[in-house]
Amino acid sequence: MQPAIFLDRDGVINENRANYVRTWEQVVFLPGVFDALRELAGSGYVVVVVTNQSAIGRGIMTAEALDDIHDRITHRVTQEGGRVDAIYACPHRPDGGCDCRKPQPGMLLQAAADLDIDLASSYLVGDAVTDMEAALAVGVLPVMVRTGRGIAQLANLEAKGLDGVMVTEDLGEAVAWILDDQPDLASRR
Ligand SMILES: [Mg+2]
Ligand SMILES: [Zn+2]
Repeated sequence: MQPAIFLDRDGVINENRANYVRTWEQVVFLPGVFDALRELAGSGYVVVVVTNQSAIGRGIMTAEALDDIHDRITHRVTQEGGRVDAIYACPHRPDGGCDCRKPQPGMLLQAAADLDIDLASSYLVGDAVTDMEAALAVGVLPVMVRTGRGIAQLANLEAKGLDGVMVTEDLGEAVAWILDDQPDLASRR
């Protein structure tokens, strides 16, 4: 089994948009993201994006359009020396009752089964409390960034009393912390 770094997409890799990222032209990468992904590419972690994309279930965009955006993101990251090994997206509406929309951990469990991932030695970087909840539900170590919705969501984190969440400025700082932390994994877990 191998450890993974799960990444939320909007607010971590690229900017959030009020009415969803629906085209490649609307993908605006956050500062330092390519550097961070380049660092990660040289590590032993599998890099897996897990993203809620209810715009599909709402009929605002097609699954094909989302696949196209994700192909282009993966290609661009690769051009920059990084690596995205897999992308999982939940297309369902919040009221759909699926088990993949975060805070449900379905995408993490699916990735673990598909890619032989050891969840207990994996991390999830996100900008929302629901990301942290998905991670905590399956023993993945949660890291919250202040980018995207992060700053606004920090209050919810405290309100929910979620413990064990590491908070960093952005993906770059999260990756630096995770890679520094790696030697301690065996003793901490
Ligand atoms: Mg997000
Ligand atoms: Zn779903």
